[in-house]
Amino acid sequence: MSVTTDRLESLVAALPDGVVVTDADRMEKYRQDRAFDPAAELPLAVVRARCTEDVQVAVRWAAAHGVGLVPRGAGTGLSGGATAQAGCLVVSTERMTAIEVDVDTRTAVVEPGALNIAVKQAAAEHGLWYPPDPSSYEICSIGGNVATNAGGLCCVKYGVTTDYVLGLTVVLADGTAVELGGPRLKDVAGLSLVKLFVGSEGTLGIVTRAVLRLVPAQRAPATLVATYASLDDAVSTVLAISRTLRPSMVELMDRASINAVEDVTRMGLDRSAAALLLVQSDEAPPRAAAEIEEVAAICTANGATEVVSTDDPDEAAAFVAARRMVITAMEPRGSLLLEDVGVPLPRLGELVRGIERIAAEHAVEIAVVAHAGDGNTHPLIVHDPTDADQTARAHLAYAAVMDLGIALGGTITGEHGVGRLKKAWLADQVGPDVLDLNRRVKQALDPQGILNPGAVF
Ligand SMILES: Cc1cc2nc3c(=O)[nH]c(=O)nc-3n(C[C@H](O)[C@H](O)[C@H](O)COP(=O)(O)OP(=O)(O)OC[C@H]3O[C@@H](n4cnc5c(N)ncnc54)[C@H](O)[C@@H]3O)c2cc1C
Repeated sequence: MSVTTDRLESLVAALPDGVVVTDADRMEKYRQDRAFDPAAELPLAVVRARCTEDVQVAVRWAAAHGVGLVPRGAGTGLSGGATAQAGCLVVSTERMTAIEVDVDTRTAVVEPGALNIAVKQAAAEHGLWYPPDPSSYEICSIGGNVATNAGGLCCVKYGVTTDYVLGLTVVLADGTAVELGGPRLKDVAGLSLVKLFVGSEGTLGIVTRAVLRLVPAQRAPATLVATYASLDDAVSTVLAISRTLRPSMVELMDRASINAVEDVTRMGLDRSAAALLLVQSDEAPPRAAAEIEEVAAICTANGATEVVSTDDPDEAAAFVAARRMVITAMEPRGSLLLEDVGVPLPRLGELVRGIERIAAEHAVEIAVVAHAGDGNTHPLIVHDPTDADQTARAHLAYAAVMDLGIALGGTITGEHGVGRLKKAWLADQVGPDVLDLNRRVKQALDPQGILNPGAVF
């Protein structure tokens, strides 16, 4: 898609000063997201929208000129969904950060550029809690969370973003703004369109407001850390815990992840351990401590070499922070190809063993960190981008891990989205009929194909 500069001037003129950025240096930070896709290009312009109306102006202009739009929140996405394309408009919501909490309906009305952490903080001021907690919660936006249906660490008990979205304002491909849902816990009028837009990765519309469900504040958790000499034993523990208990966190780090974090924190993690499990219970006392004791017994019965539990909030927070930093701790080791493969829980062992096999076959390092209680793993494939042979092997391993996930009845993405990096595998996972259904929905809502062109489909 291309457009002449004089036409771009009509967009600049239609929006207030400073909303449209065309300077190459200033556009550079909107080129890539955290997938760091080398194919990312500078866009035609960046629209730093202040409100729904600005987004409408940009979308109407793009529709009139056949120009693609790449919606962008905080740019922390790991699948290349916000990767800019030459000739496209990036629509950034970073200036739309308003949050209003309503204690009577226990909801927050949030603009898409508000960071997840800001919503949590605003809710906490009223003794309330917004549960979805991607590891990136301090740096990612609600718009991005809605568009990717983000998950996180407490999702094993509390569900993912879609479980907390009651309403949306969405700007459609023709510039119309529609209000879907609202602050009602029950509402089944018409099709479930709110659910359709959650997780649609900017391909069906641009979210400019979300009505989010809040719940009472989470209780201080009891925390357990167990270390293992074998990854298999850690996985067996996860399955045994999930059969009988419902902790609020069940996370796994493998040896490479433990060592990467220990390199940064020097907090005394056991570098020789093959795996570490981090489990929390947020039940009301004394049940939390009792649940953690039951988890400890399961860990020991499944071969844990060390089991430590604590109700000291600072110590617990340090372990959770260690788990959250795995991806950033791995980044200095090379370029990362980031997977997000999930399987039905009973197949988690086959997935983890298969990843080890793939790493050996392709002679690449793959660290594994997992929202283990959800069966959702993040194999991180490390490679040196200046080494063409190693990079090629890393890409083969990336493909092999996704093929393995699909073969195990799993998904190529549990929470990061298909974006631009995983779309080659979408058909293999969902099959031709479902892919066609996806395409028909896309065609119905975006017949010109201007919304996030090249993503997902
Ligand atoms: C260190 C690290 C840890 C992470 N941990 C997790 C985790 O635990 N769980 C998890 O789910 N993710 C995780 N992520 C991935 C990422 O943070 C999430 O995908 C997040 O939801 C992206 O939000 P964002 O604001 O950065 O969106 P962006 O990266 O800007 O965009 C993501 C996608 O959403 C679309 N989009 C953005 N805003 C809108 C909008 N207003 N309307 C329509 N479409 C829009 C974009 O086009 C793109 O397709 C992690 C990332 C990092 C860097």
